[in-house]
Amino acid sequence: MSNYAEYQARLVEDLINTYDLYLDEPERLRAPDDLQRFLAAHGFDPGEHITGETLEAVRELRAGLRACWNAETFEALARRLNPLLGREPVALRVEPDGDRLALWIEAPPDAALIERLAVACAAGLIALAQQHGPERLRSCAAEPCRDVFVDTSRNKSRRFCSDRCANRYNVAAFRERQKGSGTGEDA
Ligand SMILES: [Zn+2]
Repeated sequence: MSNYAEYQARLVEDLINTYDLYLDEPERLRAPDDLQRFLAAHGFDPGEHITGETLEAVRELRAGLRACWNAETFEALARRLNPLLGREPVALRVEPDGDRLALWIEAPPDAALIERLAVACAAGLIALAQQHGPERLRSCAAEPCRDVFVDTSRNKSRRFCSDRCANRYNVAAFRERQKGSGTGEDA
């Protein structure tokens, strides 16, 4: 993956994870300022004043991106991604990347923030799906957390976003087993 694609991949993963059911208040993009900070942290120039309307559009985009992330086949991914892409203006650019050319897909620089963000995130998703396969784009299995991550484990077995969630899941499963072991002490 080119540096630029890696940047876009990080952007889409982090954007989806700005809605985190593990938190008491799952919404991390509550106000335009929150989006401003998120973009600044990712070196993404908003290029415009962020309004409540833009924020609402970004949340909607995020929901669409999560649905794409959860697609398990290229067929499902294409079906979910095309409607997102179809309404955005797109510019193509090539840059030398080592011994080959990297194709950069982006919105024209004068496009609205929501358009530039949508194209960058879609390009990130495409790059990740090409590199790892759509089934490796996963959501955390330790409810209520459903943070997304890329499973890069050798045996394709990673199920949790973090050690925190893996531990939480295992403790809960252990308690569940104890309850079911029928010692009756808890009754
Ligand atoms: Zn998790």
